[in-house]
Amino acid sequence: MSEKTIFQKIADGEIPAKIEFQDEQCICIRDISPQAPLHLLVIPRRVIAHLSVAEQADAALLGHLLLVARDMALKLGFADGFRTVINNGPMAGETVPHLHVHVLGGRQMGWPPG
Ligand code: AMP
Repeated sequence: MSEKTIFQKIADGEIPAKIEFQDEQCICIRDISPQAPLHLLVIPRRVIAHLSVAEQADAALLGHLLLVARDMALKLGFADGFRTVINNGPMAGETVPHLHVHVLGGRQMGWPPG
């Protein structure tokens, strides 16, 4: 069995994190190095390494992650604007090979992103 990802360890309670929400499919935590006043990560319990290897069978799970991201941003008071980001691969800045949705808000965002 391959080694657990850091996000699996968090989901399994082996590494502490500020968990804002969890259900049977995902966890939502505060990013340890926030890039905005709101910076959450929505992470599926089941490891999908990258969006590029997701399959059709993952469609409902991927949709669920986005809806949880939306719900959390609204619940925490960021209805005026929030951004969801999925980094895929090293050129996009992905550092943890366990798919996760960043949810950022609370400051004016620039475009294009860096
Ligand atoms: P990415 O670079 O898109 O793969 O995003 C990985 C994110 O995970 C980064 O924003 C990190 O700050 C965050 N991160 C890494 N380790 C932890 C941790 N132990 N708890 C919370 N967030 C973490």
